[in-house]
Amino acid sequence: MGTRRANASWRACQWLSPGWSSGRVDCNYELMVSAAVPLALLLDVDGPIASPVTRDVRPRIIKDLLRLAHAGVPVIFNTGRSDTFIREQVMAPMIAEGMPPGTLVHAICEKGAVWFSYTADSVGPLHVDGSLAVPKAYADDIRTLVAEGYAAHMFFDETKHAMVSVEQRLDVSNSDYKTEQARFDAQALELTARHGLSAFRVDPTIISTDIESVRLGKDLGASRAVELLAQQNIVPQAWRTVGDSRTDYAMADWLHHHDHEVKHVDVRPADGVPEKPYQILTAADLGLSAEVIHDDAGAAFLAKWLDTVVS
Ligand SMILES: [Mg+2]
Repeated sequence: MGTRRANASWRACQWLSPGWSSGRVDCNYELMVSAAVPLALLLDVDGPIASPVTRDVRPRIIKDLLRLAHAGVPVIFNTGRSDTFIREQVMAPMIAEGMPPGTLVHAICEKGAVWFSYTADSVGPLHVDGSLAVPKAYADDIRTLVAEGYAAHMFFDETKHAMVSVEQRLDVSNSDYKTEQARFDAQALELTARHGLSAFRVDPTIISTDIESVRLGKDLGASRAVELLAQQNIVPQAWRTVGDSRTDYAMADWLHHHDHEVKHVDVRPADGVPEKPYQILTAADLGLSAEVIHDDAGAAFLAKWLDTVVS
């Protein structure tokens, strides 16, 4: 475990600050060996980690994520959210709570188009795959559409680099929003056709509508996660993916297809649990009732894994 963390630390300091060989993270070149870690977590954020109602992360989840990371479990977020959202809702509370020096966390944002990594001391460069970005002229038209017709129910997310996301306002009920969302989605789709954007799709979620390259998805995020760990010479023996939407299964689909051992946790199985060639877990597998969903279920699974790795 010590070797694994030291190795991850070496990579972290080399990557975040090339040439830096002293400071809080002790870089030890002799420890450059592949580390087979027993478990890695690939986590959707909205739903299992952040409450879909308040959109923030409860302290217990922050604490357990830190304990898992400290125990050597790679923690990787794979979200449709922007890097700004992750910095504010996840990274800042983790650092404020006391992130152990040398712990490196990866955040894959905007469904794989944007990613960055952080430690308690440094935030690595923000990577944006520009080839996957929505053209600016289209984004400008959507911004205008929202301002002129939908501002009472939704807002244009200015923090996105590659996607266009229009989200439900917090002061509006979800049922009112959904009625407006259906009208908005139809107009957004019409605009994609007008701009000739055949390689982009309009993807409604329960609290937003995303317009994005067809190449974006949780599967792209999963492939980036494997690459990011490979850069640290970390090879997880098993993965747990966690999500609240059907699209989140794409993480486990991709990992399974590429011969990684994976189980998927569905924290909102009311949509029905699909047939998959890997195991799917829900709160019921922890002996919890069907009402335990979203971040309640997410918190329960984090606590269970923590028990497993520290016992
Ligand atoms: Mg979600």
